[in-house]
Amino acid sequence: MKVVTLPGDGIGPEILAAAIEVLREVAPDLVYEPHLFGGAAIDVHGTALTDEALAAAKGADAVLLAAVGGPKWDTTDPSRPRPEQGLLGLRKALGLFANLRPVRPVPALYDASPLKREIIEGTDLVVVRELTGGIYFGASGREQDSAFDTCTYSVAEIERIARRGFATARSRVTSVDKANVMESSRLWREVVTRVHSEEFPHVELEHLLVDNAAMKLIAAPRHFDVILTENLFGDILSDEAAMLSGSIGLLPSASLGENGRGRNPGLFEPVHGSAPDIAGQGIANPLAMFLSAALMLEQGLGLEREAAAVGSAVDRALAAGLRTADLGGSATTAEATQAVLAELWKTDEELEPSAERR
Ligand code: NAD
Repeated sequence: MKVVTLPGDGIGPEILAAAIEVLREVAPDLVYEPHLFGGAAIDVHGTALTDEALAAAKGADAVLLAAVGGPKWDTTDPSRPRPEQGLLGLRKALGLFANLRPVRPVPALYDASPLKREIIEGTDLVVVRELTGGIYFGASGREQDSAFDTCTYSVAEIERIARRGFATARSRVTSVDKANVMESSRLWREVVTRVHSEEFPHVELEHLLVDNAAMKLIAAPRHFDVILTENLFGDILSDEAAMLSGSIGLLPSASLGENGRGRNPGLFEPVHGSAPDIAGQGIANPLAMFLSAALMLEQGLGLEREAAAVGSAVDRALAAGLRTADLGGSATTAEATQAVLAELWKTDEELEPSAERR
């Protein structure tokens, strides 16, 4: 299976190289094809996403991205290329309409959360956000002294994200909308309810208004399994949910299209950005990148056992005391990588291939 890798900018190349070290251990047969992306591609090719990188991504089984952007490419001149254009172009070309953000605070870091341990303990949820419709993509404009943005959703757009949400759930989907006020939300609720009864009756479904969901996410995060929601609400709730774990250096994300496996590759990346303030120092926390690689193994390539091995090695390394600077410690990127590799090597029964190769 082929993985296109996009190191991008800032700490991107450092953490992606570290992730490949880990991936080589659990899935030695994967083939990698690196491409410049974001600011790095602008410097060389004058565009954030080259035709060559795009064609490679389309032909890959999965795309693993670190992060793009940095002050060097910040510009307000609309005629100059910007790193984020690469991301938007890639999402569009790959038809990535579903964004998944798992949030599972690690027990060893419960005290890093701004919430009390007894509130976050046991939290294990996924925000499934619609990514290509809604108010961010509807008609917008200005008229004299007013401005407008339009939220539009079609039945087909709601059906496909609802299916993804139900397929991701273990027990319950909480569909979040604003059906007491917005017509698009009333359609959302209607379609989600129908998809549930026709195709996923074994999964529990509840509807929450977005204001109530925002409160419940802080008051009782353990309640949630899958939060299924539209683009704007998902943008806000996924960042709120991210804070439960207390560290942005630990959060992976997946963007998936119609078919997460096979022909339509998913895009896997950490939630954090390119951290230009610490780039080149070898001190970036690579764990969100490792967990993004694990999500790729699971959701993108169907390698569940290998994905679980990476996830549990990260947990155990943290439990054994691994702390990079962002977590209040002094471990470097290389030390963090070694700590996770060492945990992988301890699990010979989980990982026969790597045990044989040592
Ligand atoms: P950021 O996530 O890059 O950094 C925020 C803070 O968190 C910084 O202090 C940084 O040092 C720290 N941090 C982030 N990731 C870390 C890690 N793995 N280990 C240790 N510390 C880490 O957000 P920002 O500073 O707002 O943005 C910087 C650049 O990244 C901007 O150009 C922005 O556009 C871009 N960005 C890209 C993405 C993406 O590629 N998907 C996402 C967000 C921001």
